[in-house]
Amino acid sequence: MPEPRCPICGKPAAPREKGRKTAHPFCSERCRQVDLGRWLSETYTVPAVDPEDQEEGR
Ligand SMILES: [Zn+2]
Repeated sequence: MPEPRCPICGKPAAPREKGRKTAHPFCSERCRQVDLGRWLSETYTVPAVDPEDQEEGR
């Protein structure tokens, strides 16, 4: 099995532990927060499409 790598910094990811929250699949809690922040900012920059604004060719 390939060693999991942190998608943020490329270091070996933290091991996954049963019954415990770890930073997996990131290397550390810090990288996990970085990814979370990135994901949130992406969702904010994507223009929200309101279905009610789309008229159906009337
Ligand atoms: Zn990392």
